[in-house]
Amino acid sequence: MNSTNDIRRTFLDHFAANDHVIRPSAPLVPYNDPSLMFVNAGMVPFKNVFTGLETPPAPRAASSQKCVRAGGKHNDLDNVGYTARHLTLFEMLGNFSFGDYFKERAIELAWDLITREFGLPADRLSATVYHTDDEAFELWRKIAGLPEERIIRIATKDNFWAMGSDGPCGPCSEIFWDHGPDVPGGPPGSPDEDGDRFVEIWNLVFMQHMQENDQIVADLPRPSIDTGMGLERIATVLQGVHTVFKTDTFRKLIAASEDLTSTRAEGAQQASHQVIADHLRSTSFLIADGVLPSNEGRGYVLRRIMRRAMRHAHLLGAKEPLMHRLVPSLVSEMGQAYPELPRAQALITEVLEREETRFRQTLEKGLRLLDDATEGLGEGDSLPGATAFRLYDTFGFPYDLTEDALRARGIAVDRGGFDAAMAEQKAAARAAWKGSGAAADGELWFDIAEREGASEFTGYGATAGDGRV
Ligand code: ATP
Ligand code: MG
Ligand code: MG
Ligand code: MG
Repeated sequence: MNSTNDIRRTFLDHFAANDHVIRPSAPLVPYNDPSLMFVNAGMVPFKNVFTGLETPPAPRAASSQKCVRAGGKHNDLDNVGYTARHLTLFEMLGNFSFGDYFKERAIELAWDLITREFGLPADRLSATVYHTDDEAFELWRKIAGLPEERIIRIATKDNFWAMGSDGPCGPCSEIFWDHGPDVPGGPPGSPDEDGDRFVEIWNLVFMQHMQENDQIVADLPRPSIDTGMGLERIATVLQGVHTVFKTDTFRKLIAASEDLTSTRAEGAQQASHQVIADHLRSTSFLIADGVLPSNEGRGYVLRRIMRRAMRHAHLLGAKEPLMHRLVPSLVSEMGQAYPELPRAQALITEVLEREETRFRQTLEKGLRLLDDATEGLGEGDSLPGATAFRLYDTFGFPYDLTEDALRARGIAVDRGGFDAAMAEQKAAARAAWKGSGAAADGELWFDIAEREGASEFTGYGATAGDGRV
């Protein structure tokens, strides 16, 4: 009862019973939007429907969409493992009206699900509305009976959604759960709203205008609804815990990494286990959807996530590659809802093992260099950009991995210095090539190299050319 798998089912059943067509999750690599790194919201597969380019599958639809928010516009990577509510991969439960029902019905359907079917007490729920959206304010009073102080007007972009500078847009309304006074954090709109006490569980977007160049130019003749609720966040609430990492799915994944490393997810090691469990999910789903680690684009985001996790495995004392040994637990937890996981299990296992074996050849040496370079540094200091660049260029440390490695000690990394070192190396390489009198098509090679990022050194024993993937 109330397992994550049950909650997904209850959500979809609720909307099916209210005449929504249930759509399967689309793959993480968007088919309809080359500008987007990964699908990061439930509405992404319906973008062309909302803009009128495609016909809707039905007037109403609902889905549980896998989303990745690492890299690109929404990037939660640096939060993951350290806040109670952010994951790199999560499932967004969504219901959509394509010019069918609007604000009133959307609020009714949402309120009915969370208070009647899920049985959440109304006195721990609050809603935000866009500051000018009196209609939504009134509906929250009428439908939910929320007292005025728990309908919070927000004037920022957090409560105004737009597809881009041109296209449909409109106010949104977010539902928050109060995890209780024992958890630090303030209500939405307050200075400490980013704490973990009041957590946003559901965002209802009311698409009612059209904009051009960021200016509203018209009202949509048939407004639409797009909503998104984080499955892992609602599971947190319904399972009576305060962080996504204590829900059933994550407890099982973390138990597996505890077993394999003979450590406990407590104290200083808690974040490492959380990062490993989260990154296992996102990397496995990305590989299942055809992304492979590389030095550019989507593949480099995947590599960054993998290597971050691998450093945490090393921190936990893992002497051998760890991540691939966690795949069976993931498949047993999520394989039924996502058959692409068992289908790609062998590939996921092989890719994870190969990457970790490879990265372990330079990881330890790089960490030693980092230790030496930060000797005597403390809270508020920063690591010179040139050192971060050396770690990147010679030891295969993505920039954000170095940042993550220094986070616990409060040491920052000099980004400007890192970028300058990168630019300098590229310029020097170009100059050396030109000076060598070699053929002009060398230019082409540099163009490719710049697009793909620096090649990586994988240990002194590696043969020439082995550094590239
Ligand atoms: P937050 O303010 O907490 O970062 P958001 O406003 O960025 O969330 P939306 O873009 O409104 O999130 O996405 C809709 C829903 O998806 C959120 O209400 C939340 O339940 C869920 N969600 C968003 N980001 C994450 C994440 N990184 N991990 C897990 N769930 C998420
Ligand atoms: Mg966010
Ligand atoms: Mg938000
Ligand atoms: Mg939101």
